[in-house]
Amino acid sequence: MKPALVVQKYGGSSVADPARIRAVARRVVAARRTGKQLVVVVSALGDTTDELVELAAEVSKHPPQREMDLLLSTGEQVSAALLAMAIRSLGVKAAAFTGAQVGIITDRAHTQARIQDVSAKRIHDALKRGCVVTVAGFQGMTPDQEITTLGRGGSDLTAVALASALKAKACEIYTDVEGVYTADPRIVPNARKLSAVSYDEMLELASLGAQVMQARSIEVAKKYGIKLHLRSSFSKRAGTVIGKEEKRMEQMVVSGVTLRKDEAKVTIQDVPDRPGVAAKIFKRIADSRVNVDMIVQNESKKGHTDVSFTVDRADLRKVMQVARRATQEVKGGKVTSDPGIAKLSVVGVGMRSHSGIAAKMFEALADESVNIGMISTSEIKISITIRREQGAQAVRAIHDAFGLGKVGAKVKAKGSKGRKR
Ligand code: ADP
Ligand code: ASP
Ligand code: MG
Repeated sequence: MKPALVVQKYGGSSVADPARIRAVARRVVAARRTGKQLVVVVSALGDTTDELVELAAEVSKHPPQREMDLLLSTGEQVSAALLAMAIRSLGVKAAAFTGAQVGIITDRAHTQARIQDVSAKRIHDALKRGCVVTVAGFQGMTPDQEITTLGRGGSDLTAVALASALKAKACEIYTDVEGVYTADPRIVPNARKLSAVSYDEMLELASLGAQVMQARSIEVAKKYGIKLHLRSSFSKRAGTVIGKEEKRMEQMVVSGVTLRKDEAKVTIQDVPDRPGVAAKIFKRIADSRVNVDMIVQNESKKGHTDVSFTVDRADLRKVMQVARRATQEVKGGKVTSDPGIAKLSVVGVGMRSHSGIAAKMFEALADESVNIGMISTSEIKISITIRREQGAQAVRAIHDAFGLGKVGAKVKAKGSKGRKR
């Protein structure tokens, strides 16, 4: 019988220094000794990627994206090589590869590249030779051999893409927390670990600020049906399974609260209220490759209306320039910005069939005197903007209001069974 092939991914904090790399090597070797074939994807050591970004900023105001990718990809290359060395020193054959070497082919969108194809030929060859394969995460290569990276947190995507290409039996994501929690445990100390979350919930959680998994990796996992097990690299405890929605999950009303701190709001005043104006403004913004998130338009007064939208704070300067130009073209009024907001969201598949979630959320905020800015909803989430400095306090209040914490973890909402999860 063919041995089971398992893809494991270790994040930056799991390989932050030589002692941790040796600990990962021991874990990998223990799994290898049970007869499994192993492909191990690694992130850069600790905060290496941030440090490389800072280095680039010290030599250039606008670093060229092509060279940025060449620079950032080195971080993961270091960890893949060191881990293979550490595994070998424990007496197990290992071979390290870059993303390019294992045939991760991407488009040309430097720093945000999308994977187009994975050949994995060299992985198969190395596995046949009995090696544990270590792979530098977060990177690939264009068809014309340019090095690319897959967006921040992109080693998760490397792991999922390889698990799919190799038809792996399991895909295990090792990190510095024991799973997906009801909120970031750094903000909410009594947050509770979820034993399972659906792809859709995880996708919302990740896009709305739970950095524990890269959002795009979840999109790909969902598309190819790759079940993920997110767990701690520092303990043996079972973590969180991310997979198809199961019946069991339906009892959950809210499964998580997230916070995105790096948001900014732009308001365009006195926009003429006629067809085509919004299209023109947002087309200009889209052409500048800035992602617009929430959009709110007030009801028109005397043929004019105000439009507000949120963007990543990093994009604020750029979007203000574009918005000012577009507003002039449509003969709109003043364009103002607010860089001090955060987006808070509650997410849960159970919200589809329960009412009263928004009311409960707003009540909890009122009790804390937290003012709500914009509001947007989807089937399984409610997002609001608030002042950034109130972010953590608001997350804790809402987490409490929905009884998500470890003690007395009841979910009480109108129409819910209030069952313990
Ligand atoms: P890695 O380097 O392993 O990829 P990350 O730093 O990218 O790890 O992600 C893990 C971190 O995500 C945790 O340390 C935790 O603070 C944060 N996090 C945010 N929201 C959540 C959540 N809902 N559940 C678990 N962790 C979360
Ligand atoms: N090292 C990269 C980052 O910090 C990729 C990753 O860790 O997944 O974003
Ligand atoms: Mg990560």
